[in-house]
Amino acid sequence: MIRGRCLCGGVSFEIDGPVAGIQVCHCSECRRAQGSAFGTNLPVSADRFRLVSGAELLKAYESSPGKDRVFCSTCGSPVYSRLHARPDRLRVRAGLLEDDTGLGLAFHFHTGSRASWWPITDDLTQYPEDRPAD
Ligand SMILES: [Zn+2]
Ligand SMILES: [Zn+2]
Repeated sequence: MIRGRCLCGGVSFEIDGPVAGIQVCHCSECRRAQGSAFGTNLPVSADRFRLVSGAELLKAYESSPGKDRVFCSTCGSPVYSRLHARPDRLRVRAGLLEDDTGLGLAFHFHTGSRASWWPITDDLTQYPEDRPAD
């Protein structure tokens, strides 16, 4: 089982494995939403994601039509994103996970709009636009 929590600890959750690798999104929306060079997302089935605490703290921002970015309203940590059309699928923000997950990176996507100040130096697959469907 994988555990995670937001910065203030108000929101905590558990994920039942196994899960796929962490996907790195370089789009400009993720950059702003994370305040960082990219987003690191772990796709999980909603039925494998268990909110342990903080349901009342979660707020959603619809960053583009049909896409909610859900965050902790106390500390601002991004928690996951979800498409209205795919409520069964969450994209959990990997920075919230505890350190011992054993997970690796899967690939980079939206590299065509990556931050010019962040070089990509690994050998993982890079998708210039959207990632393959999961
Ligand atoms: Zn929080
Ligand atoms: Zn993105």
